[in-house]
Amino acid sequence: MAHSLLTKLSHLGTAPCDEFHPRAPVALPSMRTSTVRFNSIDDLHDTYKRQAAGERIVGYGRMGMDTHAAFEQIMCELEGGSRAFLAPSGLNAISMALLSLLSAGDHMLIADCVYGPVRQLDDTVLRRMNISSTYCSMRDMATLEANIQPNTKLIYVESPGSLLFEMLDLPAIVTVAKKHNLLVVTDNTWGSGIAYRPLDLGADVSVVAVTKYIGGHSDLLMGAVVAKDEAVIKQLDINQYALGFSTSADDVWLAIRGVRTIDVRMKRQAESTLKVCEFFEQQAETLQIYHPAYAKDVNHALWKRDALGSNGMLSVALNFTKAQTKVFVEALELFSIGYSWGGYESLIDMVNTDFLKNHAYWNQNYPSLVRMHIGLESVEDLIADYEQALAKARAVVG
Ligand SMILES: *Cc1c(COP(=O)(O)O)cnc(C)c1O
Repeated sequence: MAHSLLTKLSHLGTAPCDEFHPRAPVALPSMRTSTVRFNSIDDLHDTYKRQAAGERIVGYGRMGMDTHAAFEQIMCELEGGSRAFLAPSGLNAISMALLSLLSAGDHMLIADCVYGPVRQLDDTVLRRMNISSTYCSMRDMATLEANIQPNTKLIYVESPGSLLFEMLDLPAIVTVAKKHNLLVVTDNTWGSGIAYRPLDLGADVSVVAVTKYIGGHSDLLMGAVVAKDEAVIKQLDINQYALGFSTSADDVWLAIRGVRTIDVRMKRQAESTLKVCEFFEQQAETLQIYHPAYAKDVNHALWKRDALGSNGMLSVALNFTKAQTKVFVEALELFSIGYSWGGYESLIDMVNTDFLKNHAYWNQNYPSLVRMHIGLESVEDLIADYEQALAKARAVVG
């Protein structure tokens, strides 16, 4: 019987309960180990042989035992892939994917809306390895195609993008990539398999910061790289092993605990965020609301076509001076000031607009931008908090 993703999220990765295990815990234990014991030399040799053939079989603790295997299976279901590789952070998962798929002399095209630290990875490690890149807006396919060089190997996309949640036409990008025989690697932290599924839209690799919605409780750092194609999986497998990526079983255990409730958390946060959009729509200082699930977002039609849901992330451009925006942010009582997102708590950040100057989607005339993560608090309480903080910011002169 084929079960839906939601049913699988509740049933995958539980400990077996059968004639050999008549009593079993609901939660799979955290299987911590540095190394593995073999019953015989033949078993050891058999393990290495099967490993060399590409099977996910454990010969050493670095690969992770049952807890890891269970979570990898959950990641494959979430993203619609056939193998998942874990990394100790989301950024590490990005570096694993790029270091696995690119070689010296290769070039890649990067969407100008990507998660900021990708630029650092690119400027430092990749540059030193003679891997070059071009950043471009991926709104216009003719521009994208014009930027392809003879040595271009892959397109790196994030949809919706960081900071402004710019929804891109991923199927159109995939069509261009296929025409030129390029791989498409996406950062799907925003969708996390629930709200958006890039592999279903034709991407080759989906990278997810498990740290955010999958962990869901702001208590762990982890990343996953999910793929479906044999050749890509082989590259990832060899490189993940060679580079020594390893994640703690305890963190994986927390990720499994978190992912069980991802759907209800994201839905509640998405619902509250739409109410927050409606609130900001009515404020005189609002210049633009960035949240693709909101009907007035510029890219709402693309979201409607390609996404399956939404989340608690939004940005609002405000017609406030920097000083007023700072007063607004600091006057909020229920929002912590911070970068991350995907947990249960509301967060706000006053975005340094210098970080947006390379992003074609950003209107350079807007004086300030706040990025928010709407948590699981009562949205009425959050809105009341905005009201008192906006009143304080409005009282600032100059
Ligand atoms: C947070 C984030 C990452 C990096 O995840 P870490 O676990 O913090 O390294 C990557 N991509 C996006 C879109 C993110 O928001």
